Amino acid sequence: MKGIVFDIQRFALHDGPGIRTTIFLKGCPLRCEWCHNPESFLLKPQYQNITVNGEKIRKLVGEEKTVDELIFEVLKDKDYYDESGGGVTISGGEPMMQFEFTKSLLKAFKKEKIHTCLDTSGFAKWELFEEILSYIDLFHYDFKLADSAKHKKYTSQPNELILSNLEKICKLKKPFILRCPIIPNVNDNYEHNNKIAQFAKLYPHIEIDKLEYHDMGRNKISELEL
Ligand code: SF4
Repeated sequence: MKGIVFDIQRFALHDGPGIRTTIFLKGCPLRCEWCHNPESFLLKPQYQNITVNGEKIRKLVGEEKTVDELIFEVLKDKDYYDESGGGVTISGGEPMMQFEFTKSLLKAFKKEKIHTCLDTSGFAKWELFEEILSYIDLFHYDFKLADSAKHKKYTSQPNELILSNLEKICKLKKPFILRCPIIPNVNDNYEHNNKIAQFAKLYPHIEIDKLEYHDMGRNKISELEL
């Protein structure tokens, strides 16, 4: 089985506990205005025009990889994961866009006894999450906006599905980190913080991670060829 991967980061320290390898899959159904990985949007390889040492370069973003190739890559650092309590994180884009590939990866990592984290926007059918729950040790789950109309305005999609999946996963009491990007003039307000506090009260087992806004993605969009 093959998937389209746009980056693999070894020795990642901020994508879950311990030392990790993070695999970034292409494809995302959302278009968050603040996204810093716009190269993940399309579910296909594409070119990015970048400047390196004053020279313009056309760099291919996204490459087909097999499950076996990724297992091989990830297993290189197994000793570090075991020592540090780390593992592998599957991120994107939205990894649920390449569902069968994500499922195969998670299954294979669990077979190798590697801790798995799924970094998701939550925008996928519940049946799909249900199918892979047992292969996920930790969720990194985004919470962007409580108001669905605003969610659609700023991310291109409404949030009912995301909130309903969030509730279902939280009720299962699986390890869960609610990742909350705080965006100036979008959700840096009392109502939003209050909603985050409500989640923390409702689901005391979850961790809350507030993420600072940065506009790293802004230039990238104009560099990308569609
Ligand atoms: S869900 Fe994540 S990857 Fe997708 S557009 Fe939003 S910030 Fe970017």
